[in-house]
Amino acid sequence: MTKKLNRRQFVLTGAAAGLAATTARLAAGQAPTVYVPRAVKPVVISSGNGHTRKNGGDKTCVETAFEKIVAGEDVLDALIAGVNIVELDPKDTSVGYGGLPNADGVVQLDSCCMHGPKKQAGGVAALEGVRTPSRVARAVMKQTDHHLLVGKGAQHFARNMGFEVEDDLNTDRSRKLWLDWKRRIDPAHYLDPLKREKYGYEAAQQMMREGLIDPEHFWGTINCNGINANAELCGVTTTSGLAWKIPGRVGDSPILGAGLYVDGEVGAAGSTGRGEANLYGLCSFLIVEEMRRGKHPKDAGMEALKRVRANTIEKRLLNDQGEPSFGLNFYIVDKQGRYAGVSLQPTDARYAVCTEDGPEHVAFDSLLG
Ligand code: ASP
Repeated sequence: MTKKLNRRQFVLTGAAAGLAATTARLAAGQAPTVYVPRAVKPVVISSGNGHTRKNGGDKTCVETAFEKIVAGEDVLDALIAGVNIVELDPKDTSVGYGGLPNADGVVQLDSCCMHGPKKQAGGVAALEGVRTPSRVARAVMKQTDHHLLVGKGAQHFARNMGFEVEDDLNTDRSRKLWLDWKRRIDPAHYLDPLKREKYGYEAAQQMMREGLIDPEHFWGTINCNGINANAELCGVTTTSGLAWKIPGRVGDSPILGAGLYVDGEVGAAGSTGRGEANLYGLCSFLIVEEMRRGKHPKDAGMEALKRVRANTIEKRLLNDQGEPSFGLNFYIVDKQGRYAGVSLQPTDARYAVCTEDGPEHVAFDSLLG
C-alpha cells in the first residue's frame, strides 16, 4: 500500500513540477516548451514477458520503463531500457540472447522503435550477433537517414556504432532445442519446401505438446508501448522471430505499421504472434487509424483482428470450426492513456501493464473467445 501511495505521489509531484515550469515560462512571456492538453496518467503496456523476466535483477521491463518515465526520462529510452532486460535474459527463448534460432541454428533478431513526439523511427531485421537489437534499431533512428537496415548491413552498422558483435547468440538451451527439432524432421526436407514447412511445423507442435517449447515462444516477442504525463507516446518491438524459420525470414516485428506503429498525436500499437497474418494487414497501423477515427483502443484492436479473420482463408491456417488456428495479439495505448490488450484466440496468457497502481498481468479481450 505504501508503495502504491509513493508511486502516485511521485507521478503527481512530477506533473506539478512540469506545470510550475510551464507557468513560470508563461509568466516570463515565453511560449511553453510542451503543450500539455490534459493530465495523462502514465502507462506502460507490453506482452506478458514484460512482467515476468528480470534477468537476475529485481525489476521487470514494465516496472523499469514506468519508473524511468515518471522520473522524466525520454519515453522511448525508458521503454528500450525495459525490453533490454528481456533481450538479455537467456531464459526468454523468444527475444534477444538465447532466442530460438532459425532452421540453420542461427539466432536472427528483428526490432523496431518509434518516437511519437520526434516523429522518428528505426529498425533492424535478420540481425545476427547483437544481443540488444532494440538498441541498434534506436541507433538506426538516431544516426541515419534510414528506417530499416537488414542482415549483414545491419550487423556492419552495429559494429561501427560500437556494439559488441558475437559469433553465436545461442545458449545451451536454445542450441539443444534446435538440435532436437532438427532430429525430428525429414532429413530430406530441403528437397521439398512444402514438405519441409509441414514437417517443420509438426515437429514444433510436437515439441510444444511435450513441454519442450513454451507455445508463447514458438512465436514470441516483446512489444512495449508507453505514455508519460505530457502525453508523449513511444513504442518498441523486439524478437528472435518465428522459431526454426527459413534463414532470412522477417516477420512483422521490425516492420513499421505491422509489428509497431506510433502516431504521437493518436496512439501506439504493437504485436506478438503470427507475423505473416499481421504483415498482410499492417494491423498496428490499422489500429492507430481506427483510434484516430475515435475508437477506444479495445475496439480498434478488435477491428484489426476482424480484418485478420476475414483475410485468413487458406485451409492450412484454419481449425475445424473454420476459424484462424494461430495466435495474434496487440498491445495498445491511446493519447489519453487508455489501453487494451486484444488477442485473436481465447488464451490464458496475459499481457503486462504498469500504472501508478503498480505492475500487473491482465487478461486479454479476445475476438474468438
Ligand atoms: N511476430 C513475431 C514474428 O512473426 C513472432 C511473435 O511475436 O511470436 O516474427
